[in-house]
Amino acid sequence: MSEPTWRVPLSDIAVDNELAGAALETLRSGWWSMGPQVAAFERAFADYVGSRHAFAVSSGTSALHLALAGVGCGPGDEVVVPSLTFVAAANTVRHAGAEPVFCDVLGPHDLNLDVASVERALGPATKAIVVLHYGGHPCDLGAVAALAEERGIAVVEDAAHAPGATVDGRFCGSIGDVGCFSFFSNKNLAVGEGGMVVTDSDEVAERIRLLRSHGMTTLTWDRHRGHAHSYDVVTSGFNYRFDEVRAALGLVQLTRLDAGNEARAGFAARYRERFAGVEGLVVPFGDNDAGARSAHHLMVVLLPPGTDRDALRTALQAEGIQTSVHYPPIHHFSAYADSARPVPLTVTDEVAPRLLTLPLYPGLDDQLVDLVSDTLLAQL
Ligand SMILES: *Cc1c(COP(=O)(O)O)cnc(C)c1O
Repeated sequence: MSEPTWRVPLSDIAVDNELAGAALETLRSGWWSMGPQVAAFERAFADYVGSRHAFAVSSGTSALHLALAGVGCGPGDEVVVPSLTFVAAANTVRHAGAEPVFCDVLGPHDLNLDVASVERALGPATKAIVVLHYGGHPCDLGAVAALAEERGIAVVEDAAHAPGATVDGRFCGSIGDVGCFSFFSNKNLAVGEGGMVVTDSDEVAERIRLLRSHGMTTLTWDRHRGHAHSYDVVTSGFNYRFDEVRAALGLVQLTRLDAGNEARAGFAARYRERFAGVEGLVVPFGDNDAGARSAHHLMVVLLPPGTDRDALRTALQAEGIQTSVHYPPIHHFSAYADSARPVPLTVTDEVAPRLLTLPLYPGLDDQLVDLVSDTLLAQL
């Protein structure tokens, strides 16, 4: 089968001379591994979200692994994770030696985690809760944080969808104990592959700094600059480092994040208008609380119950419209089939077959939104 050429892809990266120039200049510097661009990107990102520490890493997945290790998750521990998220959130719990315990989401109108279900999933072995800001819409972190503080549990924010999202002026990712971001190609701040871990805790930061680069006490960059001659290895770490070319891209992309998120908000509002009043079709997150600003990473709808989603996606694909599903619930995957299930995942199971993600990116235009909407509505 030949690859489809999309008239409307799910996401799209705008490449211009400023972005290409930043990459080329860094290439020409001759220093490609972690160095001054990475340091500048980390500083700029920490300032943007308002966190004390930021560590650029190889992916959002390595960010999650470092966050979990950084708050001390290990063998014998449990970590509460929504089943309706990307599988990396559960995989990294296992990488840390712990076991995920899945919680449910609120309902068709709010696909973020249900704090009551989180509470029921907590047990004596719970070490952390990994929250997702689904689609870039801030979850109720206040309630999660209160619960976590009461029990001495860490809150890790999976903010992969939510760079630039805020709650009462505070940035998602900077509110919990540790925040994780992804810079994968389809994310709001894209560099190809990459991620960031942020925290206000000096102690957690020091663990993450060591674990990111083999547990070594100095970097190649330090030795190159003559700041160090050798190193000790104080823990068995990983190689989750970032690099200079992608950091240069990241610095440019960060300056475009707010405008990009605003453009996304405009197209999301247009979709919402087009779908208003359609029987059985739900556009979630319609009544977000007034203090919250979404990053509008994903344009998700719930199809009317009983809709043949595969047939609908095929029809959209025939018109050159790419769609996706966020997410097949983790507890349905073979690798998690026999994980402990202390909490019913009723809502997740109900909403999952109805989920559909439509194209959303800053370079979209009103005509394309109308094309996608009309094509979808014609199928219902
Ligand atoms: C993309 C994503 C990740 C993983 O990020 P990578 O950079 O692809 O490793 C983790 N969690 C969520 C919710 C994501 O969307």
